[in-house]
Amino acid sequence: MPTFVYMTRCDGCGHCVDVCPSDIMHIDKTYRRAYNIEPNMCWECYSCVKACPQNAIDARGYADFAPLGHSVRALREEEKGTISWKLKFRDGREKNFVSPIRTTPWGTIPSPTNLEKPSAEAMQSQELAHEPDALNIEGGLPSLKGAV
Ligand code: SF4
Ligand code: SF4
Repeated sequence: MPTFVYMTRCDGCGHCVDVCPSDIMHIDKTYRRAYNIEPNMCWECYSCVKACPQNAIDARGYADFAPLGHSVRALREEEKGTISWKLKFRDGREKNFVSPIRTTPWGTIPSPTNLEKPSAEAMQSQELAHEPDALNIEGGLPSLKGAV
């Protein structure tokens, strides 16, 4: 779902331009407002949506799989430690849900070079390096019960 900018809300601060990994958020030279120059190249990472202080960026599904033309709004509320998601369908229905944001203090995540080198056995494992410890999960990763 690529992003688009409500130009009447955007103040041209450029945060979305700085954060976009695909380098497709640009500031229009005439209107001094941001816009997505190439929606097909959007990673759909929502970094810009969460970073925008004016809440000026929405994401919209492609018409082929979202025929109701819904839009998605993500609102980062740092005071509450949450991100609120609002899905709005063209027929007026809305779905709202809230998820916690990461609260790891800045600079406290160790660099991979500070971690113990994986053993030869760990290198053959399906788990990623330092899982499940890095996920704070005891007793291994969860699995589907009764799966064949
Ligand atoms: Fe760039 Fe990600 Fe925003 Fe797409 S969702 S415009 S890739 S920051
Ligand atoms: Fe506009 Fe928001 Fe981008 Fe700032 S972060 S330039 S307000 S769309």
